Amino acid sequence: MNTQQISLKMYDLIEELYPICRSITGEGVRQSLHILQKHIPLEIHEVPTGTKVFDWEVPKEWNIQDAYVKNQYGQKVIDFQKSNLHIVNYSIPTHRTMSLADLSNHLFTLPEHPHWIPYRTSYYHETWGFCLSYNDFITLEDGEYEVYIDSSLQDGYLTYGEYYLSGETDEEIIFSCHICHPSLCNDNLSGIALSTFLAKHITSSPRRYSYRFLFIPGTIGSITWLSLNEIKTHKIRHGLVISGVGDSGSMTYKQSRQGNTEIDQIVAHVLQNLDKHYTIEAFSPYGYDERQYCSPGFNLPIGRLGRTPFGCYPEYHTSADNLEFVKLSSLEESWIAYLDVFEILENNKAYLNTNSKCEPQLGKRGLYGSLGGLQDKKAQEMALLWVLNFSDGDHTLLDIATRSKLKFKLILKAAISLLETGLLRECNRNVASSK
Ligand code: ZN
Repeated sequence: MNTQQISLKMYDLIEELYPICRSITGEGVRQSLHILQKHIPLEIHEVPTGTKVFDWEVPKEWNIQDAYVKNQYGQKVIDFQKSNLHIVNYSIPTHRTMSLADLSNHLFTLPEHPHWIPYRTSYYHETWGFCLSYNDFITLEDGEYEVYIDSSLQDGYLTYGEYYLSGETDEEIIFSCHICHPSLCNDNLSGIALSTFLAKHITSSPRRYSYRFLFIPGTIGSITWLSLNEIKTHKIRHGLVISGVGDSGSMTYKQSRQGNTEIDQIVAHVLQNLDKHYTIEAFSPYGYDERQYCSPGFNLPIGRLGRTPFGCYPEYHTSADNLEFVKLSSLEESWIAYLDVFEILENNKAYLNTNSKCEPQLGKRGLYGSLGGLQDKKAQEMALLWVLNFSDGDHTLLDIATRSKLKFKLILKAAISLLETGLLRECNRNVASSK
């Protein structure tokens, strides 16, 4: 499949997951993970309510069947069946009649975007509420309203998906995305779709590293995973939080807390070579699950790669983050960036020049102009010279690409040709992972 076909597949998956009412726990998450299992054999974990996870506790499980508000004529003026964003996520069960004035304390709107329904949650404070467009809100007349919420908040489980792919070494790469939002496309579904197809792609690719894909509820999910798997975290070499990869904005990379790790270097190189506008942000202790992975007690080399940062587009956490908001071309561009990251992760090694005293004669080994068309002949020759000169065991191919300002792909091709002619050999010391 080419990149365009993959982006269509990602979009189809987003479309399939869109109607489901997800939350940090509950059937919506299970149903979503079962859909992902049609693509990758991920394992579904269930962690009981009340489980202590560092300073937190796994919350009660929330499920919802139906919810509405009816006016005095029996008409549904707010209906969960029309959009799951209408209910404040984690609303407790309720059935009562009340005046508009009292009801208004439980209603949320966005006057600045009067057509949109906001997305609100109340995970850790037991209450209830409804969200609606401001335009619908101002049509509500004085009078009595029937409020009905058929939900449950009971001891149950926190559900998450995990897919582990072993490689040549048990050093691992983590890709993590959140799965806890209801009908929101860019925020949550785009990341889920890209993670799923990336997992599928890596499954059928030769690999040096082991890979772990996490499909977890935001915040409490990563805290839970880290708490239950602390013993495994020393094997994590690099990682990325995948989120917001479908909007039409330019790509943004948020560096790991350490800021100078190999994954930071890799993503910077990939973005520089996409020939599109991009932004690199330094780490800050706010955002998605990188907050937990990069908490000081873990300080893992994990960044976040997406497009427009959360909160920086008006559609964020509203009904306007819908199927139209996610663009095929953006999904495709994000996909290409992640493939490039994967290629560099797997191939970024340090080598040794076996003929380091003066330049070896490349012509007699057929290396000049050997890497493809004549157009890039000069760049190809330069790549050979750079790789030979800096393959001293201390510089990885990415170090050489960065220093020479040549693309990693070209440096890698040069290294492969040099390996084939015996001018380069593998270096036992793994520089890449010690940085
Ligand atoms: Zn969100």
